[in-house]
Amino acid sequence: MPEITLRGSCLCGTVTYETEAKPHTFLYCFCSRCRKKTGSAHASNVFVEGAGFRWLSGEDSISTYALPDTNTLTNCFCKTCGSRVPRKTERGVTIPAGGLDVEPGLPPQKCIYWADKPDWYRSVEDLPKVEQSGA
Ligand SMILES: [Zn+2]
Ligand SMILES: [Zn+2]
Repeated sequence: MPEITLRGSCLCGTVTYETEAKPHTFLYCFCSRCRKKTGSAHASNVFVEGAGFRWLSGEDSISTYALPDTNTLTNCFCKTCGSRVPRKTERGVTIPAGGLDVEPGLPPQKCIYWADKPDWYRSVEDLPKVEQSGA
């Protein structure tokens, strides 16, 4: 039996997935497009090889938006809850790290498009911490 290294799901639980591939890259992307599609300061994306990735449920509940005039910017999300879900291409799979239900197995490696970070962005190290768990 191959080892499952990553497993994830959307907010409503309709879309679930797993992969046997170990992640090779983990990036925070501060580009304006990633900020728009995540509604946050940056996207947190884990990248894995395509082989060994499979949808466990909800593949037909995934909506895809391709930004016109780009061939790389596509947002894949659950039709029910709107959560970003993995995007699979012939080059591999991009997994939004926040959707993972397990540890990704490697720490974030770098911030890309750092120059595009919003003026309001502050490093989490600089902010007070409230020790409370949501769910
Ligand atoms: Zn969902
Ligand atoms: Zn980006």
